[in-house]
Amino acid sequence: MKFRPSYRMSELVQSEIRNMSVECDKVSGINLSQGICDLPLPEILQDGIKEATRLGYNSYTRCDGIQYLREQIAKKALEYNHIKCDPDRNIVVSCGATGALYCTCYALFNPGDEIILFEPFYGYHEYTLVSLNLKPVYVKLIHESWKIDFDCLESAINPNTRAILISNPVNPCGKVFSIEELNKIGTLCEKYNLFLLSDEIYEYIVFDGKKHVSPASLPVLKDRTVTISGYSKTYSITGWRIGYSIAGGQLSELIGEVNDLFYVCAPSPAQYAVAKAIENLQDRFYMEICNSYKEKRDLLCDTLSRCGLYPFIPEGAYYILADVSVLPGKDSKEKCIYLLDETGIGTVPGDAFYSGSSGKDVLRFCFARDISVIQKACSLIIENSFKWGY
Ligand code: PLP
Repeated sequence: MKFRPSYRMSELVQSEIRNMSVECDKVSGINLSQGICDLPLPEILQDGIKEATRLGYNSYTRCDGIQYLREQIAKKALEYNHIKCDPDRNIVVSCGATGALYCTCYALFNPGDEIILFEPFYGYHEYTLVSLNLKPVYVKLIHESWKIDFDCLESAINPNTRAILISNPVNPCGKVFSIEELNKIGTLCEKYNLFLLSDEIYEYIVFDGKKHVSPASLPVLKDRTVTISGYSKTYSITGWRIGYSIAGGQLSELIGEVNDLFYVCAPSPAQYAVAKAIENLQDRFYMEICNSYKEKRDLLCDTLSRCGLYPFIPEGAYYILADVSVLPGKDSKEKCIYLLDETGIGTVPGDAFYSGSSGKDVLRFCFARDISVIQKACSLIIENSFKWGY
């Protein structure tokens, strides 16, 4: 049957992250494009999911999630994030952080509202805004140091601006926002009456003694932040779709309504198993995932610099942006395809993370893979680096 796609489709393009995963599969390459996170499932989650189905967690749940999970999230928010929240009023469990952000934007903004995004940005943040007819306004982080130019940030604000959207740590460059930066952002949010939407999905993955600070723990941002997070990355369960938002009571109620209408609820057995894991896993678990990611980051960064693919060392999350000017190709897509053809390693073109051409010499490498996969990828890069003169 012939059909005409909706007008919305013309605004959306297939994510470059998915595109490159497909290209990589075609050549049976090593996929360092997508944050697939194929690490072993912690035992408590394996057992928890079985227990959940046995206990009857197989039906729809309350639209904001089961009590047990909301209580565990509230406890963890207090202990880890220093955010005080009421499990009955402030938390909505959604289908991943992606679902939580979508519901939040749907509940808060009108078509044409402007939302500030720092560049480089996570593509799905941009698509979420665009799909709701919101206007992303891009503010570049200073290249390489990834510091904020606050004059530039303030000059991007106008009467249509409603919010600033950050990921902390940042996908793709691994920046971890300092408390000073967050306080300054808070002062601007207060001055111009803006929300801060803070996606903290990588909150447990920070390196080199850096501390994760949740904006909602700071007095200046407490009442104007929506905290978005989830367990896709922390527990390596990207397919389970468990995320959540923490917001003020009235807003949270609206987010819950949207969540109900769009998703009904997050997967029920997964909610139970995640609650069980939050309740039982000790600090040691979170320290170990961090240490294991650090080992992978260091190995990949060393290899990339030895081979002329200059990495910007990430402070958090599990991606490395690298300057690959040395590779042939007129833009990052061509350089990405070159690297895939010559080494069998899939990455993401830097242009996917910028609104203009600033990403043309950059590729993103994801290191959320088993250490043996990272080692294999490193060997392939080293073996083939003579092709680009190293
Ligand atoms: N937020 C950021 C910054 C991400 O990088 C990702 C995944 O790559 C997500 C959210 C997706 O989270 P979820 O699987 O909970 O939807």
